[in-house]
Amino acid sequence: MTLREMVENSKQIVFFGGAGVSTESGIPDFRSEDGLYRQKYDVSPETMLSSDYFYSHTEDFYRFYRDKMLPLGAEPNAAHKKLAEWEREGKLLAVVTQNIDGLHQKAGSKRVYELHGSVHRNTCLSCGRKFSAEYIARGKGVPRCECGGLIKPDVVLYGELLDDETVNGALRAIRRADMLIVAGTSLTVYPAAGFVDHFRGKYLVLINRDATPLDSRCDLVIHEKVGEVLGNL
Ligand code: NAD
Repeated sequence: MTLREMVENSKQIVFFGGAGVSTESGIPDFRSEDGLYRQKYDVSPETMLSSDYFYSHTEDFYRFYRDKMLPLGAEPNAAHKKLAEWEREGKLLAVVTQNIDGLHQKAGSKRVYELHGSVHRNTCLSCGRKFSAEYIARGKGVPRCECGGLIKPDVVLYGELLDDETVNGALRAIRRADMLIVAGTSLTVYPAAGFVDHFRGKYLVLINRDATPLDSRCDLVIHEKVGEVLGNL
């Protein structure tokens, strides 16, 4: 059966995506050939994006974060747009994403479970005041609130726990889905990668440039660019 036929036969699609969903919008992923992990830094991106590093090397954290994690000019690509269209048509239950770039919402998606948080929410650790991503991008050095408190992005750093409510919502959607499309993720970051194990529906589809540990379990595997594949449907 083709992807188009599977989509036509489904009423409750859930999309589970990762960094590869946004590479066609110009945001590098982590583990591809041109991903952030192949670029040379003195400290690994995994260390720089850890909770320990945020508190112990706050200035260095923000230098890397502003440089690599705040792509504020990026626009949704054909994958983001198709998913928003399916949601409007009542075919798509939810998007579950490991991305923090907010591009699904920018494309018009409403039910988006952001497992790893979002660069668009930032909170003063002292008084709880909220700040935009633009505020963080504009500033220099360590961003501080008027009250003097340190501002932290609401992004799940390595070493931090995922938000319970988001996890429960995402798992509920995946368990209700009749079709799960997994795309643009190397499925190596846990616990998120384990979420696909909760799927009980008809069609499990993977759209990813490189092979993943899930390939052998899928009803359909497409090793192509997700924006091109969904855009052509
Ligand atoms: P990853 O970098 O480990 O894997 C990305 C996968 O996407 C690779 O297997 C690659 O082959 C595939 N890919 C790249 N471009 C593609 C395309 N156009 N079409 C189809 N497949 C494509 O990413 P991950 O599994 O999401 O894990 C990385 C972690 O870092 C996640 O938590 C992620 O949210 C975070 N991250 C987020 C962003 C973002 O918000 N845009 C960017 C980088 C990393």
